[in-house]
Amino acid sequence: MKGKQMEKKGILTVVSGFSGSGKGTIMKQLIEEHPDTYALSISATTRAPRTGERHGKEYFFVSAEEFEQMIQEGELIEYAQYVNHYYGTPKDYVQKQLEQGKDVILEIEIQGALKVKEAYPDTLLLFVSPPSAKELKDRLVGRGTEEESVIDMRLSRAWQEAQGVENYDYFVINDDLSECVQQVHSIIQNEHARVGKNQVLIETIRTELKRFAKGE
Ligand code: ADP
Ligand code: 5GP
Repeated sequence: MKGKQMEKKGILTVVSGFSGSGKGTIMKQLIEEHPDTYALSISATTRAPRTGERHGKEYFFVSAEEFEQMIQEGELIEYAQYVNHYYGTPKDYVQKQLEQGKDVILEIEIQGALKVKEAYPDTLLLFVSPPSAKELKDRLVGRGTEEESVIDMRLSRAWQEAQGVENYDYFVINDDLSECVQQVHSIIQNEHARVGKNQVLIETIRTELKRFAKGE
């Protein structure tokens, strides 16, 4: 096996962003374009499915009792409350995919992002934003999946989330969708070149060079 392949470990990336910024749309396109590279974690939530959403595809839709049981049994890497509902990341899938070398993406809100970073300090944190607040509101209204009162709560939550952007590594603007998907892909793939992610290969080359230096 070539060294580069031997080294490949999955990168864990958290993608956050205001509701309506386009995270779901970006992730869908990213995974369609690179199905063998990425694995998107499927969260559990107590909110109701939107039209077209299926259990086990967009989310595992569970009751509050079931969610609390998952917390108690230590099945979640993190969980948070967002506009009156629980959301959380199941641990098992994420760990298995990383071990298999997949770049795993968690599309989660900011409190969860910070908890993941604590548990896995190598995590790459990306924040997605539309080009303006007006565009955010237009996208949320245009999506047509929430009633006005819920849209208002989500916009108010967006204001709170905007205060935490400095905790992230990258701030990505989702204006032209394809450009944004390309940028997200480049940022994640560049992580594979970090020194800390190549330690085994570095040690192998050191050992080989030492043999050369000794004239072997
Ligand atoms: P999120 O997952 O962040 O809540 P969505 O992916 O559901 O956001 O996107 C919100 C709305 O904005 C959807 O109707 C989607 O089609 C639209 N949208 C996403 N990206 C763009 C973009 N680059 N330009 C215009 N509209 C977009
Ligand atoms: P939505 O209801 O629009 O699908 O998601 C609402 C918010 O919850 C979004 O910001 C989304 O990123 C976040 N979210 C989705 N899954 C999780 C999760 O497992 N954990 C946390 N902390 N947030 C999540």
